Amino acid sequence: MTDTDVTLHIAGAWTPGSDARTIPVLNPATGDAIGTVAVASRNDLDRALESARRGFAEWRRVAAFDRAKVMRRAADLLRSRVDDIARTMTLEQGKPLAEARVETLAAADVIDWFAEEGRRAYGRIIPARVPGVTQMVLREPVGPVAAFTPWNFPINQAVRKLSAALCTGCSVILKGPEDTPASCAELVRAFLDAGVPGDVLSLVFGDPAEISSYLIPHPVIAKISFTGSTPVGKELAALAGRHMKRITMELGGHAPALVFADADVEKAVSVLGANKFRNAGQVCVAPTRFLIHDSVYDRFVEGFVAHAEGIRVGDGLDPETQMGPLIHARRREAMESLVADAVAQGAELRTGGKRIGNRGHFFEPTVLAETPLTARIMNEEPFGPVALVQRFSDDEAAFAEANRLPYGLAAYAYTRSATRATEIAARVESGMLGINHHGLAFPETPFGGIKDSGYGSEGGSEAIEAYLTTKFVSQASA
Ligand code: NAD
Repeated sequence: MTDTDVTLHIAGAWTPGSDARTIPVLNPATGDAIGTVAVASRNDLDRALESARRGFAEWRRVAAFDRAKVMRRAADLLRSRVDDIARTMTLEQGKPLAEARVETLAAADVIDWFAEEGRRAYGRIIPARVPGVTQMVLREPVGPVAAFTPWNFPINQAVRKLSAALCTGCSVILKGPEDTPASCAELVRAFLDAGVPGDVLSLVFGDPAEISSYLIPHPVIAKISFTGSTPVGKELAALAGRHMKRITMELGGHAPALVFADADVEKAVSVLGANKFRNAGQVCVAPTRFLIHDSVYDRFVEGFVAHAEGIRVGDGLDPETQMGPLIHARRREAMESLVADAVAQGAELRTGGKRIGNRGHFFEPTVLAETPLTARIMNEEPFGPVALVQRFSDDEAAFAEANRLPYGLAAYAYTRSATRATEIAARVESGMLGINHHGLAFPETPFGGIKDSGYGSEGGSEAIEAYLTTKFVSQASA
């Protein structure tokens, strides 16, 4: 077996699927097979469910103080293993090694933060109307969780869900990403090596629709958390609703970035440029529609195109690389088709727009200007390295365009006016807003969307609420 022959983790053991099926894992920089991932059968899922039921009964009885100690050990293990884990992540996901390291170390910080937050899942006492009565509000773990996470941040998408579940006393079955299974498995391994009991944390892979349609309605599962696209999220939310399951949905976005007449244009170019092309644009909070005031439009576009053309694209293992490949051929073809449609409808291609080479899934950092609103890319999440630069002349038009789409995940704005910043915060419809900097996605700050971008939070104290139930106990003296 190579390092990337990834197995399932069920009932305390790493195990191949019971019918021995596997899926190949490919390096997106070369297209070469680098390993396999095991496929869970119905029988494996049944064993994972039984294990999660036992694990919940065991873990909920462990004091939050002791759960926190185990979790902090897992964080330290991740830190000590960062070099190997980052290399694995780059090989299977494509992102530059430096970004893979940051993701792994940031995950350790997420675990530390949730470990402590779990110790503060306080209930309360409500003064009673009658003497001798104590009214208690108890917070209890919701139960076994089914978590579904994607390939763009193989560790960070999973660590938020696992940490929130584990710190509150829930067990989890994680359906990890089949494209990037090995780094996700390393996260699970860190928790297990740190002392999370085997029944508390299962890891499965396979056919996503088959697994979600079996786990979500299953009576053992009490809570669903999903990160992925809006269309899939809506299907899973509907299924969860039919079975009265609690859900957290972190779905797609199409973030507007507003640059007003009084903005620091150079700062806007460099911060937005870095965040547009990070992880080859495969980031749900990536800025996508750049709405630029007329008076600074030419300066912004010139700077942004220069930024895009200066990015070194290549294999993430090369230390010079600033942007890696897209995850698979489907995503690269999606870019080609979205760009072709925009150009056919009259968009100006200012730079990029093509595949690089014929090996791996590299795509040029791309800037499209003045794209008609009818183009698909102005309405669908591109999830790739394409920036859409649009001009506006009055602020009302900018707010209207910012709020036009059903998405509401992240938004960005640049202005030197405090009055305008306050208005932006009040009027832009999004779950997260960065004004004059990026500033999103710390463990201690809320992370989540509104509208079609989903609901619930994966950061801040809001994040653990989703894993707790409220029980009211009113007790009179006997
Ligand atoms: P995809 O829709 O096949 O997969 C996206 C993710 O959803 C994968 O992790 C997949 O395993 C999961 N998924 C798909 N169908 C599922 C189901 N029925 N049940 C459970 N999980 C399911 O597409 P893709 O080509 O891999 O990615 C395309 C789109 O997915 C992107 O355009 C983007 O909108 C979205 N996406 C979003 C995020 C995010 O961070 N919000 C991450 C990855 C992908």
